[in-house]
This record gives sequence, C-alpha cells and structure tokens, in this order.
Amino acid sequence: MPCPFCEAPPGSETLVADLVECRVVLSPQQGCPGWCILILHEHVEHLDALPLNRQNAVFAEVARVARAIRGVFPTHGAGGGPVRINYECLGNQTPHVHWHVIPRHADDPDPRNAVWSWPAERLRGDAGPAARAALAQRIREALRTTDVR
Ligand SMILES: [Zn+2]
Repeated sequence: MPCPFCEAPPGSETLVADLVECRVVLSPQQGCPGWCILILHEHVEHLDALPLNRQNAVFAEVARVARAIRGVFPTHGAGGGPVRINYECLGNQTPHVHWHVIPRHADDPDPRNAVWSWPAERLRGDAGPAARAALAQRIREALRTTDVR
C-alpha cells in the first residue's frame, strides 16, 4: 500500500526540522496555529515495533517540539498561546509512525474535545503559504534552543 509520508513529493511539506528520529513538518491543517507532525524517518507501522530506546527517543522529540511550540506562543502573551498541547499518535489513516503535536490556544472554539470532528475549513485554518513558512521558521528557531533534558 502506498504511504503518503514515504512518498511525499519534494516540496509538498513545510519542513520545520530534521531530528534524529523524525522529520518535523508543519501540518497542512493550521486551524490550531503551530500544529506540527513528527514523522519517523523510516516506514514503521507500529510504535511498539521500535526498540524501547528508540520509542523513548521519538517521544523526547515529541516533547521537544511541544516545548518549542510553547516558546513560540507564550501562554500569557498577547496571542494567549496554547493552554494545552494535544499529543496524538493514531495511524488509522496513515499507518506510518507519526505524532501530531497540536497546540490548543486560548481562543480554541472547542477546547474540551479532540480536533478531529472539526469541519475541514476550521481544521485547515486561514494561514497562507507565507504565514506557514514564517511559522515553520519560528518553530525551527525555537527548536535550536529547546531541549527536554
Ligand atoms: Zn511510510
């Protein structure tokens, strides 16, 4: 079965960073600004198929990206940044280990529920290509100085 993550055409993703285990891309869905997806570099269908040290390394990268996003959107800043981060590893639609790191901002219209039932337009958000590139750059810069140790 073709895998959209393994076969993503060059330039089709907004790359944030290449980490040791995962590449970090800005989700095409920016209804929650800063939403990132960490995609394991190689095609592995199940997280538990990885040795424990690699599972831990993947999750350390997930937490590092979350911390970087929280740095880009300070909770008490003018934008009222993320009050919550949702971490989701589903695989129902794309069975290749990946994590969604979804900042749930103070202005979230439905803060008590997962985002998946949102209408497509709300999920997509209204950030154009330039705004997406600028956001990816800000998260990339935050990642440079973010470590979870
Ligand atoms: Zn794949």
